[in-house]
Amino acid sequence: MSEEKTIYNSIYDNILEHIGNTPMVKLNKIAKFYGLECELVAKCEFYNAGGSVKDRIGKRMIEGLEKDGKLKPGYTVIEPTSGNTGIGLALASAVKGYKAVITLPEKMSQEKVDVLKALGAEIIRTPTEAAWDSPDSHIGKSVFLFSFFTPHLGVANRLVKEIPNSMIPDQYNNVNNPLAHYHGTAVEIFRQCGGKIDMLVAGAGTGGTIAGCGKYLKEKNPNIKIVAADPVGSILALPEKLNEGGEGVSYKIEGIGYDFVPDVLKRQYVDEWIKTEDKESFLMARKLIREEGLLCGGSSGTAVIAAVKAAKQLKKGQRCVVILPDSVRNYMTKFLNDNWMKEAGFTDDASELAAERKRS
Ligand code: PMP
Repeated sequence: MSEEKTIYNSIYDNILEHIGNTPMVKLNKIAKFYGLECELVAKCEFYNAGGSVKDRIGKRMIEGLEKDGKLKPGYTVIEPTSGNTGIGLALASAVKGYKAVITLPEKMSQEKVDVLKALGAEIIRTPTEAAWDSPDSHIGKSVFLFSFFTPHLGVANRLVKEIPNSMIPDQYNNVNNPLAHYHGTAVEIFRQCGGKIDMLVAGAGTGGTIAGCGKYLKEKNPNIKIVAADPVGSILALPEKLNEGGEGVSYKIEGIGYDFVPDVLKRQYVDEWIKTEDKESFLMARKLIREEGLLCGGSSGTAVIAAVKAAKQLKKGQRCVVILPDSVRNYMTKFLNDNWMKEAGFTDDASELAAERKRS
């Protein structure tokens, strides 16, 4: 019987083998603080090689294109992304010998830009406030006839025409996005839990994580409740009335929420949506770092905020799993910094945050 290759029994051929098989960790203090009866467990996706859950889809989409014979050494991959998919694609491209061009809204952190550059990717910044179908958006419409079918790929579509031997993996439509979670993240979660899981909570960006995991877990046990977090200002949540009042609201949390519904976000796998605010998300991310020692990013705070609200429905002996998508490495000059928090209005006083750290 062939044994699965793991960190304990082999030397990896390259770093792409260190994507997946991430640890799950109990959030003991946070569960207690919020008075949860159930167990709260985090799936720590920042332990992937490139630092996020999106490494899984970067690798799988590239390998899918290779299998189809569409991607050959020296070719270029182009992708509109909030950063982490770009890092996943650029990491796989660096290892396998492709070029990467990433279109990225201005809102996304300098840390992501620097990592992308270090991985050899070319970056094109786009205005954050541009609507998804504006020609200026990283996912904006440009060439009408072509973009009629893939309107979210406008800027990338423009580039793909200019750059020879280039292609767009297209995380918004590519089945290998949800499949990376259906065959990877969700299988791991179910196994690590020994099949004992009552609720899964995750934020939604493209929706690949929540839809891929939701489909797998519901097939295993239709009673597992799937909960998605969506920032105020985004329109992904259902019922629609949850999004009311958020029109035109911009939010600072990166990687989740959109002003259009991506094709891969199959919302039939989501039982409940919870709207979240920036301030509570960033404060929760800092709490995860300070109290649980988990060096996660802002959208991890969002997911845990939704988890502590939704998991109140669960009883003693039940288990809620929450996905922590990326690392604080992406936000060293943002929410990790006391002055940034103060200037963003997420705390009245930087020294208040420092004092709170000392007290705990
Ligand atoms: N959090 C972060 C930081 C991300 O970069 C992403 C991906 N955009 C997500 C959450 C959401 O993942 P998905 O696209 O699978 O919904």
